[in-house]
Amino acid sequence: MHALIGTWKMCLSGAKEGFGLLAAGSSAADAVERTIVRVEDEPGYTSVGYGGLPDSDGHVMLDAAFMDGGSLRMGGVMSVENVRNPIRLARALCGRETNCLLAGRGAEQAAVSFGLPLRDMRTEYAMDKWKAAVPEKHERLSAYRGHDTVCVLALDDAGGMVAGTSTSGLFMKAPGRVGDSPVIGSGFYCDARYGAAAATGLGEDIMRGCLSYEIVSLMRRGAAPKEACEEALRGLVARKLQLGEDEGSISLIALSPDGRFGAATTLSVFPFAAGAADEIALYAADGRCSPLRRVTEQEMEGEP
Ligand code: ASP
Repeated sequence: MHALIGTWKMCLSGAKEGFGLLAAGSSAADAVERTIVRVEDEPGYTSVGYGGLPDSDGHVMLDAAFMDGGSLRMGGVMSVENVRNPIRLARALCGRETNCLLAGRGAEQAAVSFGLPLRDMRTEYAMDKWKAAVPEKHERLSAYRGHDTVCVLALDDAGGMVAGTSTSGLFMKAPGRVGDSPVIGSGFYCDARYGAAAATGLGEDIMRGCLSYEIVSLMRRGAAPKEACEEALRGLVARKLQLGEDEGSISLIALSPDGRFGAATTLSVFPFAAGAADEIALYAADGRCSPLRRVTEQEMEGEP
């Protein structure tokens, strides 16, 4: 059995390629990398990789992670600039016994040592957006639309499972701000015995609930992927409401070792690509926990 799930409509074409690799017998690691690289390389996606929107100082600072569910090893980078494909760097760091999570300059140096290409990740469009936003001085990061992380979970025919994430984080974030995406247990988690999970949305909230680890723990105790996503989300949202906060902007995905996938969201619609066995397609979850429905790209027009 092979399966793959990835967040947002933007990952659909990459997910089709990643799924094709799985169908041809490739590893979950290759499928995750291929899917995410496709999103990172596309300048039109302004929340991931090349073309990502800058921090308040005008720097495009990227976070990414890669976790192998067989060994429980992870690699990650935080606040890295000029690395063309942060997911490839995260994968290269995964497997190291030490120094597997690197930030800033050290991460960029590691990319050079692995022979990974560097590039100026700023596009004219992103810098124009930044120049226009500077006078507004964003005091508080809010859950605006469009800061979406690509998260991909894959299962290969040999039972291998991998989770990967890549993001430029929030537009106009404070220099040095890191969200959940490279933080193990929050932005992603993968244990091939029980399943994999990942999160997108406001990182500051996702980290409060260690949501990805929570989902995999629920699957360990027998929950199906969709049920686990819903229960983990319900727990954090209930606490936020109790504290007088709003429910926030959080979307979650999960995959089980037998190829079932699930998702949950606080949004009215959360598109994601998913497939098992022989077909991958676009689906949507909604904030009312309705059954996941298959959708077309046209229906999701205007959604990320
Ligand atoms: N989770 C990411 C962050 O907080 C952004 C997102 O996925 O929307 O950096």
